[in-house]
Amino acid sequence: MTYFADLSPYTYLKSEQAVGLLCVGWLEAGHEYPIGPTPPRFVARLGKLCAERKTAQTRGFHRCTFKPCDKLPHWPPLSTMINDREVFLGSAEIRVSAGKGISFAAPDLIYHYVVDHGYKPPAQFVEAVMHCDERGSDI
Ligand SMILES: [Zn+2]
Repeated sequence: MTYFADLSPYTYLKSEQAVGLLCVGWLEAGHEYPIGPTPPRFVARLGKLCAERKTAQTRGFHRCTFKPCDKLPHWPPLSTMINDREVFLGSAEIRVSAGKGISFAAPDLIYHYVVDHGYKPPAQFVEAVMHCDERGSDI
């Protein structure tokens, strides 16, 4: 995975860069990240976004670099069950609008980080995911 600090401007894919687009969940081993509980409704919505609203799809797969995932073979890529469907993680991103010209760009691995590594994303992101349907998205 490529590390970017939470809420730093998005710079990963040049074609995706935009004013007001901020990074969330670009974690990597060796960098501390906040740990804590997140609301079940947030986790469910995040899963739906990662399963159904992927963007910025790339050919390769990023891998989780935290233990014990770092010991997994390179193939197959990490997958998880979301709403009874196997979803591969690590080759795409999601976008979440927070309104007021701010959006968040997160790797789809963020779902794995939240569910399996206890990652607690910034409150602004949690709030945006919980309310994204009220801002014109149809999830
Ligand atoms: Zn992992």
